[in-house]
Amino acid sequence: TQQTLSIIKPDAVERGLTGTILARIQDAGLRLVALKMLHLDTTEAEAFYAVHKDKPFFGSLTSYMSSGPIVVAVLEGENAISRYRDLMGATNPEKAAEGTLRKTFAVDLERNSVHGSDAPETAATEIAYFFNQLELV
Ligand code: ATP
Ligand code: MG
Repeated sequence: TQQTLSIIKPDAVERGLTGTILARIQDAGLRLVALKMLHLDTTEAEAFYAVHKDKPFFGSLTSYMSSGPIVVAVLEGENAISRYRDLMGATNPEKAAEGTLRKTFAVDLERNSVHGSDAPETAATEIAYFFNQLELV
């Protein structure tokens, strides 16, 4: 079994989509093992997305990610990382498959409603960034 970090991004939390997205995650058979809402400041958003620090969209991305509350969760299941990325759909919602979270809910390429870890190593780092051992049930 595997764990992955999910973020419901500010655009989705703001539009009241948290419950709907969590239901979609659970309907897909992924188990919630940790969950909380928080509001990152710019420095915290920059630290989370440090891997993108040299990209042209870094400033805009971190400003958006700190613009309002987010909901972070740890999802668990067989192949949770790739299953959740399949559920999210492509980064660009215009390219995302029908029925995926991004196709259904995203506003645009940046405000694409959800994040999911992309590999076991990044999942471990991202989970530890938001949750301590006692918060994982
Ligand atoms: P995430 O890491 O959020 O799950 P991802 O792995 O599909 O998304 P990344 O390449 O890691 O995509 O980009 C991280 C985030 O940065 C994207 O989800 C999106 O919000 C934003 N982003 C990516 N590319 C662009 C771009 N060209 N212009 C604006 N924002 C972008
Ligand atoms: Mg990514």
